Amino acid sequence: MENKEKTFINRWEVEMFSPPCDPGSPIWAARVKTDAHLAPVMPYVNAKMKNAFYDPKVPTIVWREGEHKYALRENIISINNLRDRDQALRVAERTVKKLNEIWERREEIKPDYTTRVPPKLLDILKLLPRTNCGKCGVPSCMAFAAQLVEGERCVEECPSLLEKDKQEKLARLKSMGL
Ligand code: SF4
Repeated sequence: MENKEKTFINRWEVEMFSPPCDPGSPIWAARVKTDAHLAPVMPYVNAKMKNAFYDPKVPTIVWREGEHKYALRENIISINNLRDRDQALRVAERTVKKLNEIWERREEIKPDYTTRVPPKLLDILKLLPRTNCGKCGVPSCMAFAAQLVEGERCVEECPSLLEKDKQEKLARLKSMGL
């Protein structure tokens, strides 16, 4: 796709894939390849997004908004938890627009270079059901925790966490930005 007006991101294309651990899954993720290297916008995104994980050394930033998780790295925007290509295109377009708006308003935004790393694997594991049931598409809760840290999955992809008696743990995991 192409923006009519020249701005930070002018062209992008969407590639869909199912999580590598769960080929054939009805849940999709998207890689949005842009014509811009995204590192310069990251400190401004970090200033705007609460609970983002930002590592300026890589550089990369991961944040959660609503039902999706977003990650920026090099010239790629990753978006997870998508139902189909139509939804992916809509969410991708909205995200590109948001990044362009942040970039255009960068004079008004104080960039935040604070490093914030994801919680430790064991702290996440303590809040997961630890039954290793495999319903999330990986064979163990530890593997799922690792994918949460990488920003590849959302906590709601563990069906057990959606049960009534797990709501407090679910809320705590979400408050960690997972
Ligand atoms: S679905 Fe939940 S309980 Fe089952 S293995 Fe995955 S993380 Fe663990």
